[in-house]
Order: sequence, then structure tokens, then C-alpha cells
Amino acid sequence: MLIKSRLFTPGPTPPLPAAQLAMADANYHHRTAEFRELYGSVLRDTQTFIGTKNDVILFTSSGSGMMEAAVANLTSPNDKVMVITAGKFGEQWKTTCEAFGCRVVEVSAPYGQTINIADVEAKLKSDVQVVFMQSTENSTGVRHDVEAVAALTKKSGAMLVVDAIAGLGTTHFDVDAWGVDMIIGASQKALMVPPGISYCAVSERAWKRMEAAKNPRFYFDLRKERKTAANNESMYTPAIPVIAAMAASYDYIRKMGNGDLATGRDALIGNAEICAEMTREAALALRLELFAQESPSAAVTSVCPPPGVDSGDIVKGFQKEFGCIISDGQAAMKGKMFRLAHLGYVDYMDTLAAIGALEQVLGILSRPKHVEFGPGLRAAQNVYARASAGAKAGASR
Ligand SMILES: *Cc1c(COP(=O)(O)O)cnc(C)c1O
Repeated sequence: MLIKSRLFTPGPTPPLPAAQLAMADANYHHRTAEFRELYGSVLRDTQTFIGTKNDVILFTSSGSGMMEAAVANLTSPNDKVMVITAGKFGEQWKTTCEAFGCRVVEVSAPYGQTINIADVEAKLKSDVQVVFMQSTENSTGVRHDVEAVAALTKKSGAMLVVDAIAGLGTTHFDVDAWGVDMIIGASQKALMVPPGISYCAVSERAWKRMEAAKNPRFYFDLRKERKTAANNESMYTPAIPVIAAMAASYDYIRKMGNGDLATGRDALIGNAEICAEMTREAALALRLELFAQESPSAAVTSVCPPPGVDSGDIVKGFQKEFGCIISDGQAAMKGKMFRLAHLGYVDYMDTLAAIGALEQVLGILSRPKHVEFGPGLRAAQNVYARASAGAKAGASR
């Protein structure tokens, strides 16, 4: 049979065709009026997409570059910082902070779970300068409660830095009201464009802290970049085609919101939520256990394989049979769970196809024992029918 290549990974995500065309056509020089106009519009749209009045900065890097920038710009050696860890990306915060000489107070949860807010409160003493967390721990598929942590940092006076690389476009945030000092995203997630640009929004309080922070920074100096951004320029040569792709993506999201970008972003979040619920219900109907049970994200669904099956074989089956790339667990989770993503340019049709493929792959792996086809698809269909009936009832009210 014909096989199309498909990405079902939580980054990079499937690219928007209009964004790919914009990239192919992006023959700009970055010190021209034409490009400044494009760059300025992308900065403003990123602000709206994040939902903040804070200044937005773009770097030509993957998301980890902006994570490093957060640590380098906001901390000094020996600073006491808190890191919330519940998976590989939380651990990355920890190693980044340690690389910059910070003393790390860790609040952790087992893989597949979210943290206990009371633990954060207990360890958030007044000498903790900055708290680093994920909104979505992409490696486990867990959603953390940013609002609850923000309420605590507001009280303690610590800065709050949120890696929302998987969370932006799949989660609702009220950055300014909650008091999130730095929120971080990257182009290759819900923005549905290729990797190359990381972005963030920075509070006034955080800009002030940077003046006193002593850790070294050069390329990732947010203050330098803020000055050039005020003139709609980047300090160094940016990933020009990715900027053009981001503009195309924002136009697409704006259309989803009938001309309003914030409305379109909310529709994109709603889309991810429905795709995630379809996938969770399908997995349960197939008698698979969810890896993230209590606080699953809308960005990615992590599913345990049937007993005796290595999740790596499910990942291989998707690729071999259907040309579809899904993600295995990372590190200690390798072989123990697989992940199906809903970030960005993923729709009802894609999600049903992935669930159908999952039934097929499970059937192949359990041969010669018979597997019944359909329970996963039926569960997903019911989720969609309920959600779309609800949306129509809401619209006619
Ligand atoms: C993808 C991702 C990252 C890493 O980003 P890179 O772009 O690969 O550097 C970090 N945190 C989260 C939550 C992510 O989803």
C-alpha cells in the first residue's frame, strides 16, 4: 500500500503547509525595512499568542537555548533556586542550573505524576531566588499546575520561570495576572513550524533582576536582544525562514479565530484537548494503561504497552507499517510507554488514523492471538461526537 510520512511526535510537530511555503519563499536580508516589518509583526503576534503585555524576545536556537538564557540571565553563582522535576525536562532545568553554579532545591514527583503543591510550599523559603518548572512535562505527558505555583512564588517573592515549550498552544495561561516572570516556547511545537526559533516573554521584575545577576552570557544576553527588538531587529542573524514561517502560522491561527489571534489560539488549545481526550479514551478502551493518569496534558498522551510488549516495538510498528513516527519513552521510560502528540497541526482525521493504526499494530504484535478491531475508534468517535454537539449547543446559545 501507499505510505505517507507523518509525524506524531511532541516536537518537531507536523509542519503547516503554508508555513513551509513561506520558508521556501523567504529570500530576505535581516537588515531591511521589509524584514523589520515581518520581525515586528512576529514579535507582536508572539505576545498575543502567549497572552501577555511583557516584552517578547526571540532567539535563533531550539527551546533549550532559551532555557539556558533564563538561567544565565536571572541567576548568580551560589544562588538558591528551586527546580520542579517530574521527568527529563525538569531534570534538564536542574543540570542547567547546576552548570551555572546554582544551589538547587528540588521538588520532584515520580515519572507520570505531577508534583504535590504542598511540597513546593514547604520548600519555598524566602531565600529561594528563582523557581524553574515545566507547564507540560513532555517526557511523561503530565501537566503541572502553573497557577498554583505562581500563587506561591507571588507570596514568597521568588521569580517564576516556566518552560511552556509544550504548553503554549495546548494550555490556557494568564501570564501577567498569575505573575509568571519568564515563559518560554519554541517554534517546532504547537506553532507548527520547523525548529529554529525559541521565544519568551519577560516581566519588568525579571528585567530588573538581570541587571544584578552575575552569571556569564553573551549570545543569550536577553538585555542586548531587548534593545534590538525594540527596533524590530535581532542582535545577530536570525533563522529568517523560520520567522517567515511563524508569521504564516500566526495568520493560520488568526483565521481559526475568525480574524482574532487570541481566539484562534484558544481554538487551537481546544483542538489539542479534544484530540488528547479521544486518544486517552481510545487507549483505555483498548485496555491499555495511561502513563500519566492524574494530570494528563493536552500536548501529548503517554500510553503503556500491553503486558509483555516493549513500547519500542509499537513505535517500530507505526513506522514500518504506516510511515508514522511516534515517540518511545526516554531514559528509564524507554520500552515502557509510547507517546502520541496532539500539538499544533493535528486534527480529528489524524487522530482517528493514529488510533486505527494503534489497533492494527497491537493486532500484529499479538499474533496469532486475535485482537478485536474497533474499540479504540469507537471510544474516540464518542468523544468527538460529544465535544462537537457541546460546541454546537454553545454556539447557538
Ligand atoms: C521540546 C521541549 C524542550 C526541548 O526543546 P528543544 O527545542 O529540543 O531544545 C524542552 N522542554 C519541553 C517541555 C519540551 O517539550
